[in-house]
Amino acid sequence: MDVKRKCVLVSACLMGERCKYNGGHNYNRDLVDYVADKEVITICPEVLAGLPTPREPVELREGHVIDVAGNCYDDLFEKGIERCLSEIAEKDIDLAVLQSRSPSCGVNQIYDGNFSGQKVAGSGLFAQKLKSLGYHVLDVEDIKQLEGK
Ligand code: SF4
Repeated sequence: MDVKRKCVLVSACLMGERCKYNGGHNYNRDLVDYVADKEVITICPEVLAGLPTPREPVELREGHVIDVAGNCYDDLFEKGIERCLSEIAEKDIDLAVLQSRSPSCGVNQIYDGNFSGQKVAGSGLFAQKLKSLGYHVLDVEDIKQLEGK
Protein backbone atom coordinates (compact mmCIF):
# COMPACT_ATOMS: atom_id res chain seq x y z
CA MET A 1 0.00 0.00 0.00
CA ASP A 2 1.29 3.44 -0.92
CA VAL A 3 1.78 5.76 2.03
CA LYS A 4 1.09 9.37 1.11
CA ARG A 5 4.09 11.58 1.57
CA LYS A 6 3.53 14.71 3.60
CA CYS A 7 3.13 17.79 1.42
CA VAL A 8 4.86 20.94 2.66
CA LEU A 9 4.44 24.41 1.20
CA VAL A 10 7.54 26.52 1.78
CA SER A 11 8.68 30.06 1.11
CA ALA A 12 10.85 29.68 -1.97
CA CYS A 13 13.70 31.76 -0.52
CA LEU A 14 14.11 29.19 2.29
CA MET A 15 15.06 26.56 -0.27
CA GLY A 16 17.73 28.83 -1.70
CA GLU A 17 15.81 30.57 -4.47
CA ARG A 18 17.12 34.08 -4.95
CA CYS A 19 13.72 35.74 -4.77
CA LYS A 20 14.32 37.93 -1.73
CA TYR A 21 13.83 41.68 -2.19
CA ASN A 22 17.60 42.26 -2.28
CA GLY A 23 18.29 39.44 -4.72
CA GLY A 24 19.44 37.06 -2.00
CA HIS A 25 17.87 34.01 -0.39
CA ASN A 26 17.19 32.65 3.09
CA TYR A 27 18.45 29.08 2.61
CA ASN A 28 17.64 27.09 5.72
CA ARG A 29 19.46 23.79 6.19
CA ASP A 30 17.11 22.55 8.93
CA LEU A 31 14.12 23.02 6.65
CA VAL A 32 15.84 21.42 3.67
CA ASP A 33 16.64 18.40 5.85
CA TYR A 34 13.08 18.28 7.20
CA VAL A 35 11.48 18.22 3.76
CA ALA A 36 13.98 15.79 2.21
CA ASP A 37 11.48 12.89 2.33
CA LYS A 38 8.39 15.01 1.66
CA GLU A 39 6.62 16.56 -1.27
CA VAL A 40 7.66 20.20 -1.44
CA ILE A 41 5.89 23.11 -3.08
CA THR A 42 7.96 26.28 -3.20
CA ILE A 43 6.21 29.58 -3.58
CA CYS A 44 7.05 33.29 -3.49
CA PRO A 45 3.99 35.52 -3.30
CA GLU A 46 5.98 38.62 -4.23
CA VAL A 47 7.39 37.06 -7.40
CA LEU A 48 3.90 35.81 -8.29
CA ALA A 49 2.71 39.38 -7.81
CA GLY A 50 4.89 40.21 -10.79
CA LEU A 51 7.46 42.14 -8.79
CA PRO A 52 11.08 42.11 -9.99
CA THR A 53 14.02 40.79 -7.98
CA PRO A 54 15.72 42.78 -6.61
CA ARG A 55 12.87 45.12 -5.62
CA GLU A 56 12.08 47.84 -3.13
CA PRO A 57 11.68 46.52 0.42
CA VAL A 58 8.18 46.99 1.77
CA GLU A 59 6.57 46.78 5.18
CA LEU A 60 3.01 46.64 6.44
CA ARG A 61 1.66 49.84 7.93
CA GLU A 62 -1.91 49.76 9.23
CA GLY A 63 -2.59 46.82 6.95
CA HIS A 64 -1.21 48.50 3.82
CA VAL A 65 1.89 47.44 1.89
CA ILE A 66 4.18 50.43 1.48
CA ASP A 67 7.78 51.11 0.54
CA VAL A 68 9.97 53.67 2.24
CA ALA A 69 8.81 56.38 -0.20
CA GLY A 70 5.17 55.70 0.71
CA ASN A 71 4.20 53.93 -2.52
CA CYS A 72 1.35 51.48 -1.97
CA TYR A 73 1.53 47.89 -3.27
CA ASP A 74 -1.77 46.58 -1.91
CA ASP A 75 -3.25 45.60 -5.27
CA LEU A 76 -0.10 43.85 -6.47
CA PHE A 77 0.28 41.88 -3.26
CA GLU A 78 -3.37 40.88 -3.39
CA LYS A 79 -2.87 39.63 -6.92
CA GLY A 80 0.21 37.66 -5.86
CA ILE A 81 -1.68 35.99 -3.04
CA GLU A 82 -4.55 35.08 -5.38
CA ARG A 83 -2.06 33.49 -7.78
CA CYS A 84 -0.49 31.53 -4.92
CA LEU A 85 -3.89 30.27 -3.83
CA SER A 86 -4.79 29.17 -7.31
CA GLU A 87 -1.42 27.34 -7.64
CA ILE A 88 -2.04 25.37 -4.45
CA ALA A 89 -5.80 24.95 -4.81
CA GLU A 90 -5.61 21.32 -5.93
CA LYS A 91 -2.86 20.34 -3.49
CA ASP A 92 -3.38 18.52 -0.25
CA ILE A 93 -1.01 20.58 1.88
CA ASP A 94 -0.24 19.32 5.37
CA LEU A 95 1.90 22.22 6.50
CA ALA A 96 3.25 25.58 5.37
CA VAL A 97 6.68 26.70 6.62
CA LEU A 98 7.31 30.36 5.91
CA GLN A 99 10.12 32.88 6.23
CA SER A 100 10.21 34.98 9.38
CA ARG A 101 9.27 38.66 9.50
CA SER A 102 8.47 39.09 5.80
CA PRO A 103 5.50 41.36 4.97
CA SER A 104 4.22 38.43 2.91
CA CYS A 105 5.43 35.31 4.67
CA GLY A 106 6.14 36.31 8.30
CA VAL A 107 4.14 34.24 10.76
CA ASN A 108 4.88 35.45 14.29
CA GLN A 109 6.38 38.88 13.77
CA ILE A 110 6.69 41.56 11.11
CA TYR A 111 8.45 44.92 10.90
CA ASP A 112 6.40 47.78 12.22
CA GLY A 113 5.98 49.79 9.02
CA ASN A 114 8.47 52.54 9.85
CA PHE A 115 11.55 50.98 8.22
CA SER A 116 13.36 51.32 11.52
CA GLY A 117 14.09 47.65 12.17
CA GLN A 118 11.50 47.52 14.95
CA LYS A 119 9.40 44.37 15.04
CA VAL A 120 5.85 43.84 16.21
CA ALA A 121 3.67 40.80 16.70
CA GLY A 122 1.79 39.97 13.53
CA SER A 123 1.87 38.09 10.25
CA GLY A 124 2.54 38.91 6.64
CA LEU A 125 -0.36 39.02 4.20
CA PHE A 126 0.19 35.59 2.64
CA ALA A 127 0.60 33.95 6.05
CA GLN A 128 -2.56 35.70 7.27
CA LYS A 129 -4.49 34.40 4.28
CA LEU A 130 -3.27 30.84 4.72
CA LYS A 131 -4.14 30.91 8.41
CA SER A 132 -7.60 32.31 7.69
CA LEU A 133 -8.19 29.41 5.28
CA GLY A 134 -7.25 26.87 7.92
CA TYR A 135 -3.77 25.88 6.78
CA HIS A 136 -1.28 24.80 9.42
CA VAL A 137 1.30 27.58 9.19
CA LEU A 138 4.66 27.59 10.94
CA ASP A 139 7.42 30.17 11.10
CA VAL A 140 10.69 28.61 9.96
CA GLU A 141 12.24 29.69 13.26
CA ASP A 142 9.88 27.24 14.98
CA ILE A 143 10.91 24.29 12.83
CA LYS A 144 12.45 22.48 15.81
CA GLN A 145 8.84 21.76 16.85
CA LEU A 146 8.70 19.38 13.90
CA GLU A 147 11.46 17.05 15.00
CA GLY A 148 10.33 13.48 14.38
CA LYS A 149 7.11 14.56 12.57
S1 SF4 B 1 7.81 36.85 -0.32
FE1 SF4 B 1 8.17 35.08 1.00
S2 SF4 B 1 9.07 33.58 -0.39
FE2 SF4 B 1 9.24 35.53 -1.40
S3 SF4 B 1 11.26 36.28 -0.83
FE3 SF4 B 1 9.81 37.13 0.63
S4 SF4 B 1 9.84 35.71 2.34
FE4 SF4 B 1 10.75 34.66 0.61
